[in-house]
Amino acid sequence: MASFRWVNLFIFIFNCFLTATPVFSDSNAIPNLLDLAKEPQVFDWMVDIRRKIHENPEVAYEEFETSKLVREKLDELGIPYKHPVAVTGVIGYIGTGLPPFVALRADMDALLMQELVEWEHKSKVAGKMHACGHDAHVAMLLGAAKILKDHEKDFNGTFVLVFQPAEEGAGGAQKVLDAGVLENVSAIFGLHIHPNLPLGEVASRSGPLFAGSGNFEAIISGKGGHAALPHYTIDPTLAASNVILSLQHIVSRESDPLDPQVLSVAKFQGGAALNVIPDSVIIGGTFRVFSRKSFNQMKHRIEQIIISQAAVYKCNATITFFDEAKPFFPPTINDDGLHQYFHTVAESLLGAGKVKGAEPVMGSEDFALFQEALPGYFFFLGMEDVSVEHLPMAHSPYYKVNDDALPYGAALHASLAVNYLAKLHQEVAAVEEKYHDEL
Ligand SMILES: [Zn+2]
Ligand SMILES: [Zn+2]
Repeated sequence: MASFRWVNLFIFIFNCFLTATPVFSDSNAIPNLLDLAKEPQVFDWMVDIRRKIHENPEVAYEEFETSKLVREKLDELGIPYKHPVAVTGVIGYIGTGLPPFVALRADMDALLMQELVEWEHKSKVAGKMHACGHDAHVAMLLGAAKILKDHEKDFNGTFVLVFQPAEEGAGGAQKVLDAGVLENVSAIFGLHIHPNLPLGEVASRSGPLFAGSGNFEAIISGKGGHAALPHYTIDPTLAASNVILSLQHIVSRESDPLDPQVLSVAKFQGGAALNVIPDSVIIGGTFRVFSRKSFNQMKHRIEQIIISQAAVYKCNATITFFDEAKPFFPPTINDDGLHQYFHTVAESLLGAGKVKGAEPVMGSEDFALFQEALPGYFFFLGMEDVSVEHLPMAHSPYYKVNDDALPYGAALHASLAVNYLAKLHQEVAAVEEKYHDEL
């Protein structure tokens, strides 16, 4: 019974969607999902959402208005959801509410930085800005929801829409996982818009895409005093300087040169006066690795070196790795099977030559936390149109989103979800067929 229904479902999806978004044929049937996403009722709707979110940026776990807007739009579409999940997160459901489940993820948080782009929809909040494109990610996932909802009755399974808080360093993905909302999900897909990849193209790779990241901060304490009489002080500035130099030896002398690692000290706060040796100095930074093993080794050596080197200069040191506030992000590693799947679906949607390879980067993504819990795939979506302008990198105060990328993101989300559901049904049907044959 189940087999019959699922086979029929697969054939139905194949007919309804795979021909519309030809994955396994070169049919030119229209409209395809990209055409649907470009229609004004979807495109203009997404642009409006994106700009509203851009005007009101909210940082980690404070995405209250963004979350409210997401829920209003889901209400508008008649899509049920769970809220709150991970403080501000929203989990929407399209389909039967029954397995199989396929998840799509968008992050919602902004950054603590001042926007310097002068335009009609500039951030209205001083010192906060959507400079990583998460406003676009939310709009794209809502666009996908709008398309999928229109065909909900055709699906035998459920799409799980994950509107996630706190990607920028605070690990909102872990709180979403801890809430148990992804427990029966078969796969999760996520994307990041890329300012230097052409509009209409995507890029990714099988295996490691982003590094894992950790953060540290140390207080190095001595004894302050007059800078003209250093022999009456215990100078934490000199100690901290030598700590920083010694930390550089971890990557250059101890790490395998074929295992990419980075350790950067980005914070150094000492005294304020030119003639006063301070009581203490704070240093801090980030480190990037491609495995848990390298992470543990690096963390251990950072702690050891800071304490030992501070002691050489008669200082004490205390260290934090922000395990709660800024937890370790594991490396983002794409499953090879999902990579092949993504390549087929994306090329079918975008055309030959539009799916590029990507080199691993030392940045990090908390999507990796999802990938540790369930099969997941992450890719870059291009938005640069050089005939208009070159776009600044993410986290620049001049960062801009090309709204023309929104339909591509919505269509890719929808296409990856729909075809994955079909793929799951096809696999179940094949197993049941085999079982039947064996009987
Ligand atoms: Zn970012
Ligand atoms: Zn980002």
